[in-house]
Amino acid sequence: MKKVQDVPLDNRDKNLDIKCFPDVYPYGINGQHENRNIRITASEYIKLRLMSKHPEFGLNIQFLFYLLHDNIRQLNAGIFHKMNVTNPREKYTAATYLEQLSKQQFESNLSTIFSRLRNTEQYWKIPRSNLHCMISNYGPATWFLTFSPCEWLWSDLIEYLREVNQPFATKAANELIALDPVSTSRFINNKFRAMLDFICSPDNPIGEVIHYFWRREYQGRGTQHFHLLIWIKDALIIGVSSNEDIVSFILKYVTCRIPNNDISPELYRRVVSYQRHKHNNYCLRVKKTKRSVSKVCRFGFSRPVTDTFKIRDVAVSVANRRKLKTKSRLYDLPRSKKEININDYNPAILTA
Ligand SMILES: [Zn+2]
Repeated sequence: MKKVQDVPLDNRDKNLDIKCFPDVYPYGINGQHENRNIRITASEYIKLRLMSKHPEFGLNIQFLFYLLHDNIRQLNAGIFHKMNVTNPREKYTAATYLEQLSKQQFESNLSTIFSRLRNTEQYWKIPRSNLHCMISNYGPATWFLTFSPCEWLWSDLIEYLREVNQPFATKAANELIALDPVSTSRFINNKFRAMLDFICSPDNPIGEVIHYFWRREYQGRGTQHFHLLIWIKDALIIGVSSNEDIVSFILKYVTCRIPNNDISPELYRRVVSYQRHKHNNYCLRVKKTKRSVSKVCRFGFSRPVTDTFKIRDVAVSVANRRKLKTKSRLYDLPRSKKEININDYNPAILTA
Protein backbone atom coordinates (compact mmCIF):
# COMPACT_ATOMS: atom_id res chain seq x y z
CA MET A 1 0.00 0.00 0.00
CA LYS A 2 1.04 3.59 -0.55
CA LYS A 3 2.55 5.43 2.39
CA VAL A 4 0.56 8.54 3.25
CA GLN A 5 1.89 11.17 5.70
CA ASP A 6 -1.21 12.54 7.40
CA VAL A 7 -3.55 12.25 10.37
CA PRO A 8 -4.45 8.53 10.66
CA LEU A 9 -8.00 7.41 9.85
CA ASP A 10 -9.92 4.98 12.04
CA ASN A 11 -10.24 1.79 9.98
CA ARG A 12 -13.80 1.34 11.28
CA ASP A 13 -14.78 4.68 9.73
CA LYS A 14 -18.07 4.25 7.88
CA ASN A 15 -16.84 6.22 4.87
CA LEU A 16 -13.36 4.75 4.74
CA ASP A 17 -13.62 3.90 1.01
CA ILE A 18 -14.65 7.43 0.03
CA LYS A 19 -11.92 9.00 2.14
CA CYS A 20 -9.17 6.64 0.92
CA PHE A 21 -10.04 6.63 -2.77
CA PRO A 22 -11.01 10.12 -3.96
CA ASP A 23 -9.84 9.09 -7.44
CA VAL A 24 -12.61 6.46 -7.76
CA TYR A 25 -15.16 8.44 -5.70
CA PRO A 26 -14.52 11.95 -7.07
CA TYR A 27 -17.87 13.28 -5.72
CA GLY A 28 -17.50 11.65 -2.31
CA ILE A 29 -20.78 9.73 -2.71
CA ASN A 30 -22.01 6.16 -3.37
CA GLY A 31 -19.60 4.54 -0.90
CA GLN A 32 -20.23 1.05 0.44
CA HIS A 33 -21.83 2.10 3.73
CA GLU A 34 -23.94 5.00 2.51
CA ASN A 35 -27.53 5.04 3.81
CA ARG A 36 -29.71 3.44 1.13
CA ASN A 37 -33.42 2.81 0.86
CA ILE A 38 -32.70 -0.78 -0.10
CA ARG A 39 -29.96 -2.49 1.85
CA ILE A 40 -27.29 -4.22 -0.23
CA THR A 41 -24.85 -6.80 1.12
CA ALA A 42 -21.08 -6.35 1.05
CA SER A 43 -20.65 -8.93 -1.72
CA GLU A 44 -23.40 -7.31 -3.83
CA TYR A 45 -21.73 -3.92 -3.47
CA ILE A 46 -18.29 -5.31 -4.39
CA LYS A 47 -19.69 -7.12 -7.44
CA LEU A 48 -21.44 -3.97 -8.63
CA ARG A 49 -18.24 -1.98 -8.30
CA LEU A 50 -16.05 -4.54 -10.06
CA MET A 51 -18.52 -5.15 -12.88
CA SER A 52 -19.26 -1.46 -13.32
CA LYS A 53 -18.95 0.09 -16.77
CA HIS A 54 -16.50 2.50 -15.13
CA PRO A 55 -13.21 0.62 -15.30
CA GLU A 56 -11.47 2.75 -12.63
CA PHE A 57 -12.70 0.46 -9.84
CA GLY A 58 -11.47 -2.83 -11.27
CA LEU A 59 -8.18 -1.39 -12.54
CA ASN A 60 -7.22 0.22 -9.23
CA ILE A 61 -5.01 -2.40 -7.57
CA GLN A 62 -4.98 -0.49 -4.25
CA PHE A 63 -8.77 -0.48 -4.26
CA LEU A 64 -8.85 -4.24 -5.01
CA PHE A 65 -6.66 -4.94 -1.98
CA TYR A 66 -8.90 -2.69 0.08
CA LEU A 67 -11.92 -4.81 -0.99
CA LEU A 68 -10.02 -8.00 -0.25
CA HIS A 69 -9.39 -6.70 3.24
CA ASP A 70 -13.18 -6.45 3.66
CA ASN A 71 -13.04 -10.05 4.85
CA ILE A 72 -10.92 -9.02 7.84
CA ARG A 73 -13.30 -6.16 8.62
CA GLN A 74 -16.19 -8.64 8.56
CA LEU A 75 -14.25 -10.84 10.94
CA ASN A 76 -13.78 -7.95 13.35
CA ALA A 77 -17.48 -7.18 13.08
CA GLY A 78 -18.21 -10.84 13.82
CA ILE A 79 -16.07 -10.84 16.94
CA PHE A 80 -17.74 -7.73 18.32
CA HIS A 81 -21.14 -9.13 17.39
CA LYS A 82 -20.40 -12.41 19.17
CA MET A 83 -19.26 -10.58 22.29
CA ASN A 84 -22.50 -8.62 22.40
CA VAL A 85 -25.05 -11.34 21.72
CA THR A 86 -23.58 -14.40 23.45
CA ASN A 87 -26.07 -13.78 26.21
CA PRO A 88 -28.39 -10.85 25.43
CA ARG A 89 -29.86 -10.72 28.96
CA GLU A 90 -26.53 -10.41 30.63
CA LYS A 91 -23.97 -7.67 30.06
CA TYR A 92 -20.44 -8.91 29.63
CA THR A 93 -18.01 -7.72 32.25
CA ALA A 94 -14.24 -8.13 32.35
CA ALA A 95 -14.72 -10.83 35.00
CA THR A 96 -17.07 -12.81 32.74
CA TYR A 97 -14.57 -12.65 29.87
CA LEU A 98 -11.78 -13.84 32.14
CA GLU A 99 -13.88 -16.69 33.48
CA GLN A 100 -14.88 -17.81 29.98
CA LEU A 101 -11.31 -17.53 28.74
CA SER A 102 -10.06 -19.73 31.56
CA LYS A 103 -12.71 -22.37 30.74
CA GLN A 104 -11.89 -22.10 27.02
CA GLN A 105 -15.57 -21.47 26.29
CA PHE A 106 -14.77 -18.22 24.63
CA GLU A 107 -12.44 -19.76 22.05
CA SER A 108 -14.99 -22.32 20.94
CA ASN A 109 -17.52 -19.53 20.44
CA LEU A 110 -15.05 -17.45 18.48
CA SER A 111 -14.00 -20.29 16.18
CA THR A 112 -17.40 -20.20 14.48
CA ILE A 113 -16.69 -16.63 13.39
CA PHE A 114 -13.77 -17.83 11.28
CA SER A 115 -16.22 -19.72 9.05
CA ARG A 116 -16.77 -16.31 7.41
CA LEU A 117 -13.10 -15.97 6.59
CA ARG A 118 -12.24 -17.67 3.31
CA ASN A 119 -9.80 -20.55 3.32
CA THR A 120 -9.74 -21.02 7.07
CA GLU A 121 -10.27 -24.45 8.60
CA GLN A 122 -13.77 -23.40 9.74
CA TYR A 123 -14.64 -22.00 6.31
CA TRP A 124 -14.04 -25.41 4.67
CA LYS A 125 -15.87 -27.37 7.37
CA ILE A 126 -19.26 -27.34 5.61
CA PRO A 127 -18.02 -28.08 2.05
CA ARG A 128 -15.79 -30.83 3.43
CA SER A 129 -18.63 -32.53 5.29
CA ASN A 130 -20.81 -32.18 2.17
CA LEU A 131 -18.12 -33.98 0.20
CA HIS A 132 -17.84 -36.74 2.81
CA CYS A 133 -21.60 -37.09 2.59
CA MET A 134 -21.44 -37.39 -1.23
CA ILE A 135 -18.76 -40.08 -1.02
CA SER A 136 -20.66 -42.12 1.56
CA ASN A 137 -23.90 -41.83 -0.43
CA TYR A 138 -22.71 -42.11 -4.03
CA GLY A 139 -19.63 -44.28 -3.49
CA PRO A 140 -16.11 -43.41 -4.62
CA ALA A 141 -15.76 -40.69 -7.27
CA THR A 142 -14.82 -41.95 -10.74
CA TRP A 143 -12.52 -39.18 -11.95
CA PHE A 144 -10.25 -36.57 -10.43
CA LEU A 145 -9.52 -33.69 -12.79
CA THR A 146 -7.36 -30.58 -12.50
CA PHE A 147 -7.69 -27.51 -14.73
CA SER A 148 -4.94 -24.89 -14.76
CA PRO A 149 -5.11 -21.88 -17.05
CA CYS A 150 -2.18 -20.95 -19.27
CA GLU A 151 -3.69 -17.48 -19.51
CA TRP A 152 -0.72 -15.62 -21.03
CA LEU A 153 -1.03 -17.85 -24.12
CA TRP A 154 -4.80 -17.54 -24.53
CA SER A 155 -5.26 -15.37 -27.62
CA ASP A 156 -9.01 -14.99 -26.92
CA LEU A 157 -8.34 -13.63 -23.43
CA ILE A 158 -5.70 -11.20 -24.68
CA GLU A 159 -8.04 -10.03 -27.45
CA TYR A 160 -10.80 -9.48 -24.86
CA LEU A 161 -8.47 -7.59 -22.49
CA ARG A 162 -7.37 -5.33 -25.36
CA GLU A 163 -11.01 -4.67 -26.24
CA VAL A 164 -12.10 -3.71 -22.71
CA ASN A 165 -8.91 -1.75 -22.02
CA GLN A 166 -8.65 0.29 -25.21
CA PRO A 167 -6.14 2.87 -23.88
CA PHE A 168 -3.69 0.05 -23.01
CA ALA A 169 -4.27 -2.02 -26.18
CA THR A 170 -0.61 -1.90 -27.20
CA LYS A 171 0.64 -3.52 -23.98
CA ALA A 172 2.05 -7.07 -23.94
CA ALA A 173 -0.10 -10.04 -22.85
CA ASN A 174 1.39 -10.45 -19.35
CA GLU A 175 1.18 -6.68 -18.71
CA LEU A 176 -2.51 -6.67 -19.68
CA ILE A 177 -3.22 -9.58 -17.32
CA ALA A 178 -1.47 -7.81 -14.43
CA LEU A 179 -3.25 -4.57 -15.28
CA ASP A 180 -6.76 -6.05 -15.26
CA PRO A 181 -6.93 -9.00 -12.82
CA VAL A 182 -10.72 -8.68 -12.50
CA SER A 183 -11.48 -9.22 -16.20
CA THR A 184 -8.87 -12.00 -16.32
CA SER A 185 -10.44 -13.82 -13.36
CA ARG A 186 -13.92 -13.49 -14.83
CA PHE A 187 -12.70 -14.81 -18.16
CA ILE A 188 -11.02 -17.83 -16.53
CA ASN A 189 -14.17 -18.43 -14.51
CA ASN A 190 -16.35 -18.33 -17.65
CA LYS A 191 -14.03 -20.75 -19.41
CA PHE A 192 -14.18 -23.12 -16.47
CA ARG A 193 -18.01 -22.97 -16.47
CA ALA A 194 -18.03 -23.72 -20.21
CA MET A 195 -15.71 -26.66 -19.59
CA LEU A 196 -18.02 -27.96 -16.87
CA ASP A 197 -20.96 -27.66 -19.31
CA PHE A 198 -19.00 -29.64 -21.89
CA ILE A 199 -18.11 -32.39 -19.38
CA CYS A 200 -21.76 -32.67 -18.31
CA SER A 201 -23.11 -32.44 -21.87
CA PRO A 202 -24.84 -35.40 -23.61
CA ASP A 203 -21.60 -35.89 -25.59
CA ASN A 204 -20.30 -37.60 -22.42
CA PRO A 205 -16.59 -36.96 -23.03
CA ILE A 206 -15.69 -38.90 -19.86
CA GLY A 207 -18.96 -40.84 -19.43
CA GLU A 208 -22.38 -39.76 -18.19
CA VAL A 209 -21.86 -37.40 -15.25
CA ILE A 210 -24.30 -37.91 -12.38
CA HIS A 211 -22.61 -35.80 -9.66
CA TYR A 212 -19.64 -33.49 -9.36
CA PHE A 213 -17.80 -31.47 -6.74
CA TRP A 214 -15.25 -28.78 -7.48
CA ARG A 215 -12.94 -26.45 -5.63
CA ARG A 216 -11.11 -23.35 -6.78
CA GLU A 217 -7.57 -22.77 -5.57
CA TYR A 218 -5.08 -20.00 -6.10
CA GLN A 219 -1.53 -20.72 -7.25
CA GLY A 220 1.56 -18.81 -6.18
CA ARG A 221 1.22 -16.23 -8.95
CA GLY A 222 -2.37 -15.57 -7.88
CA THR A 223 -4.17 -17.27 -10.77
CA GLN A 224 -7.00 -19.63 -10.02
CA HIS A 225 -7.05 -23.32 -10.85
CA PHE A 226 -9.70 -25.97 -10.30
CA HIS A 227 -9.92 -29.48 -8.88
CA LEU A 228 -12.93 -31.66 -9.63
CA LEU A 229 -14.34 -34.95 -8.43
CA ILE A 230 -16.76 -36.55 -10.88
CA TRP A 231 -19.14 -39.46 -10.42
CA ILE A 232 -20.04 -41.35 -13.62
CA LYS A 233 -23.23 -43.36 -14.12
CA ASP A 234 -22.65 -47.13 -13.86
CA ALA A 235 -18.93 -46.55 -13.28
CA LEU A 236 -16.79 -49.53 -12.47
CA ILE A 237 -15.45 -49.80 -8.94
CA ILE A 238 -12.02 -51.17 -8.12
CA GLY A 239 -12.32 -54.25 -5.94
CA VAL A 240 -15.92 -54.83 -7.08
CA SER A 241 -15.74 -54.96 -10.89
CA SER A 242 -13.32 -57.25 -12.73
CA ASN A 243 -9.84 -55.93 -13.51
CA GLU A 244 -10.38 -56.54 -17.25
CA ASP A 245 -13.45 -54.26 -17.24
CA ILE A 246 -11.63 -51.58 -15.23
CA VAL A 247 -8.66 -51.63 -17.61
CA SER A 248 -10.87 -51.20 -20.68
CA PHE A 249 -12.87 -48.40 -18.94
CA ILE A 250 -9.70 -46.44 -18.10
CA LEU A 251 -8.16 -47.04 -21.54
CA LYS A 252 -11.34 -45.74 -23.17
CA TYR A 253 -10.91 -42.30 -21.58
CA VAL A 254 -7.33 -41.80 -20.39
CA THR A 255 -4.06 -41.75 -22.29
CA CYS A 256 -0.50 -40.43 -22.02
CA ARG A 257 0.29 -40.85 -25.72
CA ILE A 258 1.91 -38.07 -27.73
CA PRO A 259 -0.50 -37.67 -30.66
CA ASN A 260 0.59 -37.70 -34.29
CA ASN A 261 1.62 -34.18 -35.27
CA ASP A 262 0.35 -34.64 -38.86
CA ILE A 263 -3.10 -35.91 -37.88
CA SER A 264 -3.81 -33.71 -34.80
CA PRO A 265 -1.34 -30.80 -34.81
CA GLU A 266 -3.22 -28.72 -32.19
CA LEU A 267 -3.63 -31.65 -29.77
CA TYR A 268 0.04 -32.53 -30.33
CA ARG A 269 1.04 -28.97 -29.42
CA ARG A 270 -1.10 -28.99 -26.26
CA VAL A 271 0.19 -32.37 -25.08
CA VAL A 272 3.87 -31.50 -25.51
CA SER A 273 3.51 -27.98 -24.08
CA TYR A 274 1.00 -28.48 -21.22
CA GLN A 275 0.98 -32.18 -20.29
CA ARG A 276 4.71 -32.64 -19.95
CA HIS A 277 5.71 -32.71 -16.27
CA LYS A 278 8.66 -30.59 -15.16
CA HIS A 279 9.92 -31.02 -11.61
CA ASN A 280 9.86 -28.09 -9.20
CA ASN A 281 10.29 -27.47 -5.47
CA TYR A 282 6.65 -28.41 -4.88
CA CYS A 283 6.79 -31.91 -6.37
CA LEU A 284 10.26 -32.99 -5.28
CA ARG A 285 10.41 -34.71 -1.89
CA VAL A 286 13.49 -35.82 -0.02
CA LYS A 287 13.66 -39.61 0.26
CA LYS A 288 16.03 -41.08 2.81
CA THR A 289 17.11 -44.69 2.65
CA LYS A 290 19.80 -46.53 4.63
CA ARG A 291 22.26 -45.98 1.82
CA SER A 292 21.43 -42.60 0.37
CA VAL A 293 19.41 -39.39 0.37
CA SER A 294 17.74 -38.49 -2.91
CA LYS A 295 14.91 -36.35 -4.27
CA VAL A 296 11.82 -38.10 -5.58
CA CYS A 297 8.85 -36.66 -7.48
CA ARG A 298 5.65 -37.09 -5.47
CA PHE A 299 3.68 -37.46 -8.73
CA GLY A 300 5.83 -40.40 -9.78
CA PHE A 301 7.58 -38.83 -12.77
CA SER A 302 9.37 -40.10 -14.74
CA ARG A 303 6.80 -42.88 -15.05
CA PRO A 304 7.67 -46.43 -16.12
CA VAL A 305 7.87 -47.53 -19.75
CA THR A 306 5.45 -50.39 -20.41
CA ASP A 307 3.75 -52.00 -23.42
CA THR A 308 0.80 -53.23 -21.41
CA PHE A 309 -1.58 -51.70 -18.86
CA LYS A 310 -0.64 -52.55 -15.26
CA ILE A 311 -3.06 -52.28 -12.34
CA ARG A 312 -2.03 -52.54 -8.67
CA ASP A 313 -3.77 -53.26 -5.40
CA VAL A 314 -5.25 -50.06 -3.89
CA ALA A 315 -3.83 -50.56 -0.37
CA VAL A 316 -0.36 -51.46 -1.70
CA SER A 317 -0.42 -48.45 -4.01
CA VAL A 318 -1.39 -46.02 -1.23
CA ALA A 319 1.23 -47.41 1.19
CA ASN A 320 4.01 -47.37 -1.41
CA ARG A 321 3.21 -43.87 -2.57
CA ARG A 322 3.50 -42.65 0.99
CA LYS A 323 6.96 -44.21 1.12
CA LEU A 324 7.79 -42.54 -2.23
CA LYS A 325 8.49 -45.92 -3.80
CA THR A 326 8.76 -46.15 -7.55
CA LYS A 327 6.15 -48.07 -9.55
CA SER A 328 3.57 -47.38 -6.85
CA ARG A 329 0.77 -45.71 -8.80
CA LEU A 330 -2.60 -47.42 -8.90
CA TYR A 331 -2.08 -48.11 -12.58
CA ASP A 332 0.48 -47.63 -15.32
CA LEU A 333 -0.78 -46.67 -18.76
CA PRO A 334 1.00 -48.11 -21.80
CA ARG A 335 3.87 -45.66 -22.28
CA SER A 336 6.91 -45.35 -24.54
CA LYS A 337 10.27 -43.89 -23.55
CA LYS A 338 9.48 -40.44 -24.98
CA GLU A 339 6.19 -40.34 -22.99
CA ILE A 340 7.67 -40.95 -19.50
CA ASN A 341 6.96 -37.35 -18.43
CA ILE A 342 3.55 -36.95 -20.09
CA ASN A 343 0.75 -36.60 -17.53
CA ASP A 344 -2.43 -38.63 -18.10
CA TYR A 345 -5.11 -36.77 -20.04
CA ASN A 346 -8.42 -37.12 -21.83
CA PRO A 347 -8.06 -36.09 -25.51
CA ALA A 348 -11.60 -34.63 -25.82
CA ILE A 349 -11.19 -32.41 -22.74
CA LEU A 350 -7.68 -31.30 -23.66
CA THR A 351 -8.90 -30.41 -27.16
CA ALA A 352 -11.80 -28.41 -25.69
ZN1 LIG B 1 7.94 -33.81 -10.35
